[in-house]
Amino acid sequence: MSEVLYRKYRPQNFSEIVGQEAITQTLQEALASGRIAHAYLFSGPKGTGKTTTARVLSKVLNCLNLKGKKNDKFPQEPCNKCDHCLEISQGNFLDLIEIDAASNRGIDEIRDLKEKVVYPPSVGKFKIYIIDEVHMLTKEAANALLKTLEEPPTYVIFILCTTEAHKILPTVISRCQRYDFKRASSPQIVKRLEQVLKKENIEFENEALIKIAQSSSGGFRDAEALLSKLLSLSDKEKLTKEVVTRKLGLIESTTIAKIIENLLAGEAKEVILKLRDFEQKGIEITYLIEKMIEYLRVLLLIKAGVEIELLDLIEEDYKHFLTKSSLYETTEITGLLYSLSEILKDTKYAFVSSLPLEMLAIKRSLQKKKDPGNNSSKRELTEKGKSFDKVENKTIETAPKEILAPDHIVQEISVVDDTENVKEEDQRMLEQIILKWQDFLKGVRPHNHSIEALLKASQPKVVKNKTLHLEFFYTFHKERIEDTKSLQIIEKVLSDLLGQTMRIKCLLGIKGKKIEHKGKNAKTIAKTEKIVQNDLLQTATEIFGGAVLES
Ligand SMILES: [Zn+2]
Repeated sequence: MSEVLYRKYRPQNFSEIVGQEAITQTLQEALASGRIAHAYLFSGPKGTGKTTTARVLSKVLNCLNLKGKKNDKFPQEPCNKCDHCLEISQGNFLDLIEIDAASNRGIDEIRDLKEKVVYPPSVGKFKIYIIDEVHMLTKEAANALLKTLEEPPTYVIFILCTTEAHKILPTVISRCQRYDFKRASSPQIVKRLEQVLKKENIEFENEALIKIAQSSSGGFRDAEALLSKLLSLSDKEKLTKEVVTRKLGLIESTTIAKIIENLLAGEAKEVILKLRDFEQKGIEITYLIEKMIEYLRVLLLIKAGVEIELLDLIEEDYKHFLTKSSLYETTEITGLLYSLSEILKDTKYAFVSSLPLEMLAIKRSLQKKKDPGNNSSKRELTEKGKSFDKVENKTIETAPKEILAPDHIVQEISVVDDTENVKEEDQRMLEQIILKWQDFLKGVRPHNHSIEALLKASQPKVVKNKTLHLEFFYTFHKERIEDTKSLQIIEKVLSDLLGQTMRIKCLLGIKGKKIEHKGKNAKTIAKTEKIVQNDLLQTATEIFGGAVLES
């Protein structure tokens, strides 16, 4: 579904190709004066119209009813009515051969090309080869292509397309007429989307199209794929800014502004709550961090005096950024940019994807508490030459050697002593669970890595009424596990492992409180418990970036 519109409304002549006017005009002028190259190189980012232009060019070269004659000042456009034009549109014109070098690096296709290139076109005037992602050809295939390019038969035309021209043999490039396709600007994409929506008879707000354009990083194909997705979800309702934001799972810039404000102010709890909210809405944390980085970049550029035209922003957004940029020091912005770029890498591979950002928020909150009146510009003067992040780490290292948790999280911990009056069979069951704890974690892993990581930060405490009481040390861990879906997974895995139904109850507890075990398994249990606790301490250390004292 996602590319339907792109195919349905693929431009059929040069004038419909938006955003590449310089290229289409040059091509038309050359065609009008009869200057036809034997090899063209179309390079540029994906979705900017390279293969579309290649197909229109193929039509013009083979059209039976060309609009505008040779040496004519009229633009050279295909008629889109003759057999050749129609066959090219439908993708079954015998003399247009499209090769995707990315699929199997073009080995068979180029061999085939070498054999067949000697035969003249079967129906058309020219035999045209469009080779997409030509930089992906193997060395052998590229050399074979070069041989053909050196002495091309008069009736053969190559159109090579690539997103990475620097990877193509210079000897190949030098034989081509080269055209560099530019990323489209937001207004150009908006113009294109407007064309499509008018043809589809769908009402829209201009701001909605701007949102789509901004999410498509300068590619028409991406923009139209997003539009297709939206239309398939929205059943011909009017396309508003609100619909686009909601349905594409975009984050409003005001929301990004708020979370950045929280981070810079050291408000860890607010950040953590917002992260949970994003996760519930299905927004990926990596996407959030990327958006925060983009946002801070714009702030930085505006502070540096870059003007609206270069920022690809609409007036309203520009005003928003202008106001915000006056609130922060440049060093605060660069410091946070640096930290976010660092954790972006970790977030992609983190067991709990929100963990790196949570850690950053907590670190910043500690930093702020320790040094409330400070701001980063003063810090920079005293720590000249050191990066912002290093300054932060130094502060962490000199903090007391215990689990570093901000006050408001510690305050939420309450002691619940439920280990008294435990039945003997329940005690045995708890021992079983502790002995099988590693198997249990392994069982959870395939269902959900995050749950496994959170369980590592918990401790099996007591079994009562066929319910295992699991102790957590941070509210946000406990609440995550208490989520119905997580609980279902955990209870299922645990019940299967034990061969009987076992429910889970989550509690908040305090680190280091030991439970006595008696009986013949006591030693093994103590050893296993030690492993469980080590996992726990390690996870806590990872979360808060501090050192933990052996208790
Ligand atoms: Zn035609």
